[in-house]
Amino acid sequence: MDKNPSIKCTVQQCKYNSAAEYCTLNEILVGTHEQNPKVPECTDCKSFELK
Ligand code: SF4
Repeated sequence: MDKNPSIKCTVQQCKYNSAAEYCTLNEILVGTHEQNPKVPECTDCKSFELK
C-alpha cells in the first residue's frame, strides 16, 4: 500500500518503510526489550522486517 500518513518512520532498512519516511503498513506493533522502559530507546517496532 501507499504510505500510512498516521505512522511516520525513518528506519530505511525496514522493508515497510517508504522513501518519504512513512510506514506503509495499516498498523504496527510497538514493544520493548526492557523490563522497565524509561526512555524512547527502550522501545522497538516489532513489525520491523529487514529489507
Ligand atoms: S514496520 Fe516499523 S520499522 Fe518498519 S517502516 Fe513500519 S514503523 Fe518503521
